[in-house]
Amino acid sequence: MPINREPYPKLTADLKKLRDNIDRIKSRCAERGVALTGVIKGFTGIPACVKVFEDAGCQYIGTSRLEQIRGAIEYGVKGPFMLIRVPMLSEAYEAVRLADISLNSEPAVLRALNGAAGKLGKTHKVILMADLGDLREGFWSKGELLAAARLVERELGNLYLAGVGTNLGCYGSIFPTADKLNELVDCAEMIEAGIGRRLDILSGGASTSLPRIFDGDMPERINQLRVGEAVVNARDLQELFGYDMSFMHRDVFVLHAEVVEVKDKPTYPDGEIMFDAFGMKREYVDRGVRRRALLALGRADYAFHDMIFPMDEGVEVLGASSDHTIVDIEDARREFKVGDIMKFTLCYASAVFATNSPNIKLSVI
Ligand SMILES: *Cc1c(COP(=O)(O)O)cnc(C)c1O
Repeated sequence: MPINREPYPKLTADLKKLRDNIDRIKSRCAERGVALTGVIKGFTGIPACVKVFEDAGCQYIGTSRLEQIRGAIEYGVKGPFMLIRVPMLSEAYEAVRLADISLNSEPAVLRALNGAAGKLGKTHKVILMADLGDLREGFWSKGELLAAARLVERELGNLYLAGVGTNLGCYGSIFPTADKLNELVDCAEMIEAGIGRRLDILSGGASTSLPRIFDGDMPERINQLRVGEAVVNARDLQELFGYDMSFMHRDVFVLHAEVVEVKDKPTYPDGEIMFDAFGMKREYVDRGVRRRALLALGRADYAFHDMIFPMDEGVEVLGASSDHTIVDIEDARREFKVGDIMKFTLCYASAVFATNSPNIKLSVI
């Protein structure tokens, strides 16, 4: 008998497919004069995967977490790196040390970055974020945005004002229409008039801005997108926005789980129904007795049972507790027995959790 090394649950990362995905989005963006910042936070910055973004020639490698930049540098990735969450004051020094450029919305942080850059003998680039209605980060007041631009340009000699940017479709669920992105162009032109020179970068959002590329109505001056989900999972633009993304691989990351029980059981619970393991009231549909399998992984690994997608036809995820997943296999095309492995593709949320779960072994292929 082989030694039990607890190989499951396992997550595989296919570097070739990741590279294909990056190349395909990068070239479509390039046709419109838009450079790609590859965002790595959706897979917790797994260094071998980050290297693929570097090899593919991304303009920047972006993440919200400095730990992930540190990990990539230790692995040998040179970058350049973009910090895409506005820096904490407490991390200003490390932000300048590790990242070449950061997204910003607070004068106090800009001053701290300037101080850190002075100590490090570096010039740190900044992009000022404009909040165009999504209500997460960014200047709401155009006056404050302009004042911050003047501050960087005239007083903070260790910073370089690289441009302006915006983020949409995160908190306020706002769609990056051409009109919305033209508001960013307006912000840039206001700043350019105020400082008397052209800005290098107009950073027009994340994966949800790609429809402007596909539809051909990206405002001309937008010349950068920061894309994670569309190259890593390639799911939302198809499922939520109806774009044909069949040219992309959806199985860059695949979750492998082991079957620990296979039985015929009723589909409706027997007894007084209260709350599930997470304190939720759930609805159950009585479909009679059906064959089902129990998997040795659960919400502690991927958060939401409806956000993992069986690769086997006819398999349906019914629910999960923290360490168990229940799947209906009555209509499965193949027979499952105890010890078999079931595979799933992931979406943004489940990939973030799976790559953060210490239970899941990572295997790069
Ligand atoms: C996460 C993030 C992105 C990338 O978003 P995707 O939906 O994964 O493309 C881009 N910009 C900022 C500021 C982000 O926080």
